[in-house]
Amino acid sequence: MPYYDYQCQDCRRRVRLFMTYADYGRTTPTCPHCHSIALKRRIGRIALAKSEDARMDAMMDDTALANLDENDPKALGQFMRKMSQEMGEDLGDEFSEVVDRLESGESPDSIEQSMPDLGAGEDF
Ligand SMILES: [Zn+2]
Repeated sequence: MPYYDYQCQDCRRRVRLFMTYADYGRTTPTCPHCHSIALKRRIGRIALAKSEDARMDAMMDDTALANLDENDPKALGQFMRKMSQEMGEDLGDEFSEVVDRLESGESPDSIEQSMPDLGAGEDF
């Protein structure tokens, strides 16, 4: 079933609602946390990049990760770059290379295979 991501304007939570395409057109999305109907549709990575006020929140919250499309290496790369920038840490050449390759559209699997030294347990 397709899902739609929203941000609740009342409780500020990110909300993911599962509904069919038909339902999307005719039902009013409701926040499962506070039952508000003031939900604003989030558009994937654009929302991720633009929501500056919620950036720390987004980093610490695995919903940010859950919202990522694992099959979209570019989004993943951008997210990882953003995270390292937010942390203000240089995570090393290896990390940078992985991010660069993700952003150029290479799949995480293929990167992993070509970099056998990549830290074990590092799960992309
Ligand atoms: Zn709410």
